[in-house]
Amino acid sequence: MCVLEREERVSAHQTSHNSGVLHAGIYYPPGSLKARLCREGIAAMYEFCERRGVAHERCGKVIVATGENELERLEELERRGRANGVPGLRRLDPGGIRELEPHAAGVAGLHSPETGIADFAAVARELAAELRSAGGAVALGSGVEGVEVRPRALRLRHARGELETGHALFCAGAWSDRMARAAGAPADPRIVPFRGAYLRLRPERRELVHSLIYPVPDPALPFLGIHLTRHTSGEVLVGPTALIAPGRDAYRLTRAGPRDLGATLAWPGTWRLMRRFWRTGATEVRHAASRRAFVAAARRYVPELSPADVEPAFAGIRAQALARDGSLLDDFAFSRTERALHVRNAPSPGATSAFAIARHVADEAERAFDL
Ligand SMILES: Cc1cc2nc3c(=O)[nH]c(=O)nc-3n(C[C@H](O)[C@H](O)[C@H](O)COP(=O)(O)OP(=O)(O)OC[C@H]3O[C@@H](n4cnc5c(N)ncnc54)[C@H](O)[C@@H]3O)c2cc1C
Repeated sequence: MCVLEREERVSAHQTSHNSGVLHAGIYYPPGSLKARLCREGIAAMYEFCERRGVAHERCGKVIVATGENELERLEELERRGRANGVPGLRRLDPGGIRELEPHAAGVAGLHSPETGIADFAAVARELAAELRSAGGAVALGSGVEGVEVRPRALRLRHARGELETGHALFCAGAWSDRMARAAGAPADPRIVPFRGAYLRLRPERRELVHSLIYPVPDPALPFLGIHLTRHTSGEVLVGPTALIAPGRDAYRLTRAGPRDLGATLAWPGTWRLMRRFWRTGATEVRHAASRRAFVAAARRYVPELSPADVEPAFAGIRAQALARDGSLLDDFAFSRTERALHVRNAPSPGATSAFAIARHVADEAERAFDL
C-alpha cells in the first residue's frame, strides 16, 4: 500500500487546522452516515490515542442556549443525541451551566461528558509511522495530477513520476472533487472552500473556559457556530468563522487562487447558496473583518469575554461539498469510478470519525473490487 501525499508532510490541511474536538454524535440526523460513523469513530479514536500515546482528554462539553427561542432546537439536539446513542447526556439549568463552566451563561444547556479533544495531527503522524512499519509507503510531495484507466490497472501521474496500481482510494479533502472528476466521476458536487478563522484567549484569560462551550447551531447550516474550545496544548480557541474562501489553501485571505476562485464562481450552486444565505454571509463578513464583532458572537454565552482577551490564531479551510442546486451536502458522501473509490464530502466530524470512515471505505472496496 502506498499513500501519495501532495504536501511535504502529512496532515498539512484540514486535519491540522481544526477545533480538535472529538464529537460524541449529538448533532446528526439519526440514521445518517455522520451519526453512525461519528459514534463508531469516537470510540476507535479514543482507543487509538490511548494505545499510541497521542494527547487527548475526555473533557466534556456544554451546549448553551442563550434565549427562549433556542430551547426548541436544544431539545431537538438532545433528542437526536439520545437517538444516536450518545451516553451521559444531561439537561442543565442556568446553575448547572455555571457549575461546569463558571463563566458561561444561558437559559438552559446540554452536557455531553463523552465529548473530548485530541491532537489530530499527531494521530495522522502516528498512522503514517504505523503504515511505514507495516511495510507500506508514504510518498510526500507526490500530488496526483492525472488518472488514466487502463484495462487492468489505474495509472496515476504524480509530481514525482507515475505509479500503476490495481485500485485507488481518493481522500483528497479540498481537492477531492478534482480527483474524482479526473477519474471519470460527475462534477456534482463541487468542493467549495469555507475559511474558518480562529482567535485564541491570551494565556492569562484561559480560565474563562474549562472545557468546551458551544452555542445552539443554526439547523439550516452544516457549521456549528463560533465555539470556545480548549486544545490539548492548553490553548483556548475561539472560532471558527465560516466564509467562502478565494482558494482551497487560502489560509491567508490575500492568497487567492485564480483557478479555485474561478471554479467556485462558475459553479451554479455557489450563486444559489449566496442568494439563500446572503444574511448569514453578511454576518460572517462582519466576523471576519472585525475582531469586536467576532468576540461579540462568543460573548453571548461567555459574557465576560472582551476583545482585549483574545489574539489572532490560525485559519482552517473546510472542504465542503456544494451541490449544483445550491444545497450544502450535510452527510458524508462517497462515490465510485472504475477501480477507485472517492471520499467526496468529509467535513466535521470527519476527524473524529476517521477510523470509522476508513472501515466504511475498506468494506466498500472489498465489495466493489472483489478483494
Ligand atoms: C475549521 C475546521 C474545524 C473543524 N473542526 C473539527 C472538529 O473539531 N472535530 C472533527 O472531528 N472534525 C473537525 N473538522 C473536520 C476535519 O478536520 C475533517 O473532516 C478531516 O480533517 C478531513 O480529513 P481528510 O483527510 O479528508 O482531509 P485533509 O486533512 O484536508 O487531507 C486531505 C489530504 O489530501 C492531500 N491531497 C489533496 N490533493 C491531493 C492530490 N492531488 N494528490 C495527493 N494528495 C492530495 C492533501 O495534501 C491533504 O493531506 C474541522 C474542519 C475545519 C476546516
